[in-house]
This record gives sequence, structure tokens and C-alpha cells, in this order.
Amino acid sequence: MHEQLSHTDRERYRRQLMLRGFTADHQKRLKNSTALIAGVGGLGGTAALYLAAAGIGRMILVHAGNLTLSNMNRQVLMKNNKIGKSRVLQAKKTIEELNSDVRIEVSDERITHNNIQQLLKGVQVALSARPNFQERRVLNQACVERVIPMVEAAMNGMEGYIFNVIPKAAACLHCVYPEDDPSWEEMGFPVLGAVSGMLGCMMALEAIKLLTGYGKPLFSEMLLFNTMDMEFRKVKIPRNDRCPVCGERRAFSEACPLPACSENDHAQERKSL
Ligand SMILES: [Zn+2]
Repeated sequence: MHEQLSHTDRERYRRQLMLRGFTADHQKRLKNSTALIAGVGGLGGTAALYLAAAGIGRMILVHAGNLTLSNMNRQVLMKNNKIGKSRVLQAKKTIEELNSDVRIEVSDERITHNNIQQLLKGVQVALSARPNFQERRVLNQACVERVIPMVEAAMNGMEGYIFNVIPKAAACLHCVYPEDDPSWEEMGFPVLGAVSGMLGCMMALEAIKLLTGYGKPLFSEMLLFNTMDMEFRKVKIPRNDRCPVCGERRAFSEACPLPACSENDHAQERKSL
């Protein structure tokens, strides 16, 4: 079902509809989109909040486990009185309080090869924000197979990175990280909430661009930053043609249903690769 913008939508999103080049069609695409949010911690929780504020139609939140006190320095969807309770249920509640028009489904489990196909049903973009490589790799592989773009981001201390996995056109997670980074010890790395929150906002922004065709999402480039001295830079991340996950190259425009693919000069960039 393709939903039109209501009078309420036009008022709620009035300020973003004032953006140069951002039209009612872009907003309508967002309204008719579904994102899988893999992790609702410091990164994914912030991204989910801003996707909801921007008017995404539906989100599937996946995150195993209950809220702990040590989550509270960064997980802005959470509430103190929910410590010990389900994290995804609190995330759903907070998001619905912000924007009740967004449909939220939750899954209190880790991402595995057994559940990922079900989780990706009807999804147009995935946000990779789990704190371990194992779940990220399962998500990466499934997104490549189903030709679903994935926003990949991670942080450690004051540093972070973000890039977009555009299946079979730009590098996937395995192309960039063929081996796990041993410094990624789940629950073991330092986090400043302002850093994870900033990166979560970037994830939401890239997802909005990929879903609507507005702007120019990162393509074959990774944004790296160190907030200790506010150094930001982009580096090329070439796709590995022999990558065991994303394999043989084929034209993005043949496979991907996203508007970002056919509407702006980005498509030309992709085709020429
Ligand atoms: Zn790859």
C-alpha cells in the first residue's frame, strides 16, 4: 500500500519540507519505507529516534537483552525506571511518544542466520549498529544477498567511522574488514554518549538519503573521525571483486529499487564504476 501525505504530515514535517530540493515526494517515500535497526544502543537508538522524527513509516528494532545502569550514559531512548527491563520495548515506547505515526516492531534477540531472513522482510534499508562483528557479518551477508543497502557505522572512544554498503556496487563490510578487529570487545570499549549520538545522527541521515534519493549518500567512501581534535576525513574503500560475500560486480541500477539509484548524479557515478 502506497500512503499519501496527510494534512498532519505536511504540518509535522513542514520545516524539513522547506529544505532546498526536498519535496513532498521525498517525504512520501520516507513514509512508505521500512528500516531495520540492528541495535538500539548509543548508535542505533539515536538513529531510530531521528528516523522517527523525520517521518519514516516503519522500523524493526532488534536488540537482545535488558537495560543496565551502565547503558544510561548514551542510550537516549531509555529511562532510569526501566533498568532491568526489556530494552527494545522501552525503545518502542519512547519512539511512539515522539511520533505515534511510525509503526514499530521489536525483536529481543541477537541477529543470526536463522532469524535474519524473517527480520529483513519488507525492509528497504538496514542500520548496522551491533557492538560485535558476528551479528554485523550476518546482517551484511543477508543485505548483500537481498540487495538491501546497509548503513555501517561504529565507534570506539572518541573515534568512529561510517560507510554505506551498496550491495554488489560498493564495498561490503567483509571487503573493508575481512577479519574481525580484536579491539572490538563487546561491552569492553569506552563510549562517550555525545560521540555515539553524533554518529547515530549520521546513520539516520544516510538512511534518509538512501531511502528518498535526496542528497548524495556516501558511496565507496568511508567517513572517519576523531572527535578528540575534531578531525574528519573521507577515505576511498574499494570493493574487492573477489570478496566471498559480495562476489561478482554487477550494475547497482539493475538490482536496487531505491530512488537514490535512478534520480541523481549518484546513479551515474555508480554505473561508471
Ligand atoms: Zn564484499
